[in-house]
Amino acid sequence: MRTSVLVVGGGLAGTSAALFLAWRGVDVILVEKHPGSSPHPRAVGFNGRVGELLRAVGLEGALPASRMAKGFGIRRVRCASLVGERFEETFWTPPAQLSDVEYSPTAGVGVAQDRMEPLLRDKARELGADIRMSTRMLEFAQDDEGVTALVQGDGEPYEIRADYLVAADGHRSPVREQLGITRTGRGYMHTSRSVLFRAPLEEYLKDGVGQFAVEGVGFLTTYGDGRWVLMLDDREYTEPELIDKITQAIGRDDLPIEIITTGRWTISASVADRFSEGRIFLAGDAAHTLPPSRGGFGANVGIEDAHNLAWKLAAVIGGESAPSLLDTYDEERRPVATLCHQQIFARNDGHNRDGEAEDATLYDNNAMHYGVLYRSSAVLGAGPELPPAALPEEWNGQPGTRAPHAWVEPGRSTVDLFGRGWVLVADHPQWQEAAEGLTVHCERIEHLDLFGLSAKGASLVRPDGYVAWRSTDLPDDPAGALKAAFSSVSAGTR
Ligand SMILES: Cc1cc2nc3c(=O)[nH]c(=O)nc-3n(C[C@H](O)[C@H](O)[C@H](O)COP(=O)(O)OP(=O)(O)OC[C@H]3O[C@@H](n4cnc5c(N)ncnc54)[C@H](O)[C@@H]3O)c2cc1C
Repeated sequence: MRTSVLVVGGGLAGTSAALFLAWRGVDVILVEKHPGSSPHPRAVGFNGRVGELLRAVGLEGALPASRMAKGFGIRRVRCASLVGERFEETFWTPPAQLSDVEYSPTAGVGVAQDRMEPLLRDKARELGADIRMSTRMLEFAQDDEGVTALVQGDGEPYEIRADYLVAADGHRSPVREQLGITRTGRGYMHTSRSVLFRAPLEEYLKDGVGQFAVEGVGFLTTYGDGRWVLMLDDREYTEPELIDKITQAIGRDDLPIEIITTGRWTISASVADRFSEGRIFLAGDAAHTLPPSRGGFGANVGIEDAHNLAWKLAAVIGGESAPSLLDTYDEERRPVATLCHQQIFARNDGHNRDGEAEDATLYDNNAMHYGVLYRSSAVLGAGPELPPAALPEEWNGQPGTRAPHAWVEPGRSTVDLFGRGWVLVADHPQWQEAAEGLTVHCERIEHLDLFGLSAKGASLVRPDGYVAWRSTDLPDDPAGALKAAFSSVSAGTR
């Protein structure tokens, strides 16, 4: 059996990789050892950038908007119980900024992981991905031409030969371990237990507080769909003990409580020291384990890895780019994961309870979601003097950052213009001529100031919606300048 890309792992990162690859027309097989998603969700909050990626593949309408919409954050309190005394609101760091700037055409997505994964899976299948649940990869080996994996579903083991392998096999990542890729970071922090339950508690969510640090009991929060989770210390609990803990956390014993399931979570923080080895790429928790935080980094970063990798694999497999482009996956995504790791511990939000807070510059959540900087061979003009993240209005179209959002017409954002192929944003007719003969689509828009351009300037936007290069004005030879820039960034050979 042959395919272009084999994805190992059907969590959020792997399923997103299959979805984005299939959307780009790449032949992809995904194997997941479990029959379906875990009944105990983990993630629920997906930021606006992830919302944009899902919007591009036609999923935005299927998903409820995030409670984190517009960066206001989910409020949380320290309290005696859900219905009892509230001692104080425990603010997030940095404090939520009320900004007038609209950063995105979407508000992000608020949906539990066990509902999100099947939606992504169904869409990936609809677009042609071959998704094999209850199928485990047993072993793999790579050579100069590809990767051979031995997998097993219900029957006998069989081989899959792929050009590339995406290891989205979770934080323990057997693939990463076999490749001998080490990790850096805080490492193991603590282990938590959880109980997932259903109870009619919606009336306690009306004031916008959704997270409750209940003194002497644990941390209570909701998936926003009638299901709640209570995080507890790590020990065995009998069912009556769990009911007792839930009742204490709620502060009422007259409500029907249905226990759905329990969980045990290893909370750790680390980033792989390499995101690829030959034809194998790590994505999601396999590449970086980032503990839950208000930055919502965990699964979000994994989905963005998948998006970054998908267009590069599609370009190389399709013969439009040299394989050197794939080296920029590590160059771009590993610094982002490292920055997220740093920001989690620089934010004194309770996730660094196993160690010292990190003394580092804090970046606004909107800077982390919409304004991380890629410095790589697929970008021209992003030097070491620049910060690793900033707000889009501060970047003003800086190469290496996500092309900014503005409405080009009702319901259609500049962000919607990007994502398929290479786009040249310009208004001057000479740029249109300059793009002829290149696989670059020219978009004439009025918002050139947002891209930091004069009326005669142009920006080259990559298929992932990041600015690769810009010319703020019209050079003497626009065609020559564009051609040189395009051949460099599209091959990742600055
Ligand atoms: C309590 C909790 C709450 C969280 N909340 C949030 C949140 O609100 N927002 C957020 O962004 N993140 C959150 N996270 C983090 C988020 O859940 C993870 O980052 C994300 O689920 C990781 O996805 P993944 O696809 O990389 O890995 P996983 O979900 O671990 O998926 C890996 C998959 O690979 C499969 N696999 C492994 N080996 C093989 C093999 N050999 N063959 C076939 N299949 C294999 C596994 O079965 C598994 O399904 C939370 C985490 C926890 C613990």
